[in-house]
Amino acid sequence: MQSDATKKRLEIVLAVLFTIASLFILVDLVMQTGQRALAYSEVREAIRSSRVEEMTVGPTLLNGTLSDGSRFKTQRISEDAELIPMLEKYEVSYSGPSEWRSVFYGGAAPAIALLGLLYFFYQRSQSPLRNFGKRGKTLLVAESPSTGFDHVAGCDEAKSELTEIVDFLTAPERFHAMGASMPRGVLLSGPPGTGKTLLARALAAESGVPFFSLSGSDFVEMYVGVGAARVRGLFEQARKQAPCIVFIDEIDALGKTRDQNSSNSDEREQTLNQLLVELDGFEQDSRVVLIGATNRPEVIDPALLRPGRFDRQVVVDAPDRVGRLAILEVHGRGKKIGPNTSLKKLANSTAGMSGADLANILNEAALLAAREGASCIEQEHLHEAVEKVLAGPVRSNRLLDKNLKNRIAYHETGHALIAYHSPTADPVHKISIVPRGKAALGYTMQIPLSDSYLMTETELRDRIRVLLGGRAAEALIFNEVSTGAENDLERCTLLARRMVGHFGMGARTGLLHAGADLRGCSPAFAAKMDEQVQDMLEDIFKEAQTILVENRGQLEAVSQRLLKREVLEAEEFESFL
Ligand code: ADP
Ligand code: MG
Ligand code: ZN
Repeated sequence: MQSDATKKRLEIVLAVLFTIASLFILVDLVMQTGQRALAYSEVREAIRSSRVEEMTVGPTLLNGTLSDGSRFKTQRISEDAELIPMLEKYEVSYSGPSEWRSVFYGGAAPAIALLGLLYFFYQRSQSPLRNFGKRGKTLLVAESPSTGFDHVAGCDEAKSELTEIVDFLTAPERFHAMGASMPRGVLLSGPPGTGKTLLARALAAESGVPFFSLSGSDFVEMYVGVGAARVRGLFEQARKQAPCIVFIDEIDALGKTRDQNSSNSDEREQTLNQLLVELDGFEQDSRVVLIGATNRPEVIDPALLRPGRFDRQVVVDAPDRVGRLAILEVHGRGKKIGPNTSLKKLANSTAGMSGADLANILNEAALLAAREGASCIEQEHLHEAVEKVLAGPVRSNRLLDKNLKNRIAYHETGHALIAYHSPTADPVHKISIVPRGKAALGYTMQIPLSDSYLMTETELRDRIRVLLGGRAAEALIFNEVSTGAENDLERCTLLARRMVGHFGMGARTGLLHAGADLRGCSPAFAAKMDEQVQDMLEDIFKEAQTILVENRGQLEAVSQRLLKREVLEAEEFESFL
C-alpha cells in the first residue's frame, strides 16, 4: 500500500513536469510560426539597409524584428564571422539567447517530454488486460455487483435455474451429502437485450462470491497463443479465489465452430482448446462456476456443450405479456408514473420487444415528460416513446417536395391497406409520413394482438404481402417504382428464404433444412432455393397488386387524407374502409 501511494505521487509529479515541458515546446512552436523565414543573405541585406530593429543571435538560429514590426527567423550559416562586427557597425541592438532558454530548449524540455512518453507507453503495457495471462501477475479484479434477482423480471425459468447455483455456491454441503456434483458451466442463450448479462451479474450479487467478468472478444488476439494464455491465467486466478463465478459474455467470439476457415482460426482454436482443458480440469469441488452468454447459440462449437462442460443451457427468451409487465414494473420503480398511466396497456402492445427495449421506452417516456415539464409520466408519453424506440426520432420533412411526399403517402397506404385486407396480419395502429430515424421516410405501425409462438404458412405469407404492399402501390399509381422499398424487400426476402430453407414451405424444395445460416446445403440446392424464393415473392406481389386494384378507391382516399394530415391513427384509417 505504502509503495502504491508513493508511486501515485511520483506519477503526479511526472505528469505535471511532462505537461509543463510540452506547453513550453508548444508555445515556442507557435511563436516561431508567426515569424517569416528569411534567407541569410536577405537578413544581411536588411542589416546593411538599417531595416533591422533588434536581433537575438543563437548558435544556429537568428531571430529578430524588422523596422516595420514584423518578426523574422533565419538559419545561421557557418562562415559568418563578420555577423557580429556588422551588427556593431550598423548599430543594431543584439543579444545572445538567454542562458536558461538554450538549456531548456536545447536539452531539458525534449528530454522530459520523451521520458513522459516512454512512461506512458510503459504504463499501457502494464494495463491489466494486456498482461493478464502472464504468469505470476495479478490480473483481473473481481467485481461484486449489487443488483440482485429482484432487478431481473420476466425470465422465471432462467432465474430458478440460476438460484440452484446460488445454493450450491453458498451451501455446498447439502448437495455433497446427496452425492450431487456441482454444475461446471451454464450457458445463457437468447436474443440481444433479454437480460443475459443482467442475470449473470445478479447471480453474482445473490451468491456474494467474487465475480470475474470478461467478453469473448477479449481473448481473440492477432497472435497465436495469447488467447490461450489468457484463458489459463484467468482460471488460475479463479481457482485461487474459489468459490467464485467466471462470466464470459459473448462467448461465441471464441467458441465458434472450429472448421470455419477464417484468418485467425488457429488462434481461436487454441483458445477454445484451452478453455476445454480448463473446464475438464475442474476438480469435483473446485467451486468455480463458468457462466457463458451468447446471442448466437447456433455457432457455438458443439464440443463446448458436451456434459461436464457447459452442461446447463438456459434459454433467455423475449418476455411474454406477463413478463413484459413485470419488467416495466421493475424499471418503473424510481419513476413518477401518473395515476392514469397503465403499464399493463403498454405491456399488451409491445409483443416481441426485449427487456432492453422496454427499459429504453420507459426512460424515453420519462425524458419526454421532463422536457414538457409534466408532473408525471402520462400514457401519451409512453406512446411517443414507443414510436421513438421503434422508428427513431422525428426528423423535419420540410425539405421533401410535394411529389415525393405524395409517393410516400401511397407507399405507406399500400402497406396499411394490404394489412387491412389480409386476415391474419397484425392490425394497423398508425400510418405516418413524418420521417423518423435515419432511413424511414414514412412508416406503418402494426401492433400484434398477442405473442406469437408459432406462425402458420398463411400468417407468413400475409406478412410478406404487407411488406410488398408499398412497392405494389407505387407500381400501380406511378407506373414506376423507387428506391423506397429497399428495406421492405430485404425483410420479405429473408422471411421467404427462411420459409423455404428452414420451415419446409417451398413446393419444389421440400423438407430439407438449409442450416442455421441458410448455407448448410449444396450449391445445387441453394440455386433451387433461390428460384423458389423468387417465385414465392412474385406470386405474393401479384396478390398484393390484385388487392390494391380491387380497392383503388380506398387507396386514393386514404393516401390523400394521409398527405394532408401526415399521421393517421387506427380509427381514422378504418373510417375510410
Ligand atoms: P443481453 O445481455 O441479453 O443482451 P442485457 O442484460 O445487457 O441484455 O440487458 C440490457 C438492459 O436491458 C439491462 O441492463 C436492463 O436494464 C434491461 N433488461 C433486459 N432484460 C431485462 C429483464 N429481464 N428484466 C429487467 N431488465 C432487463
Ligand atoms: Mg449482454
Ligand atoms: Zn415500405
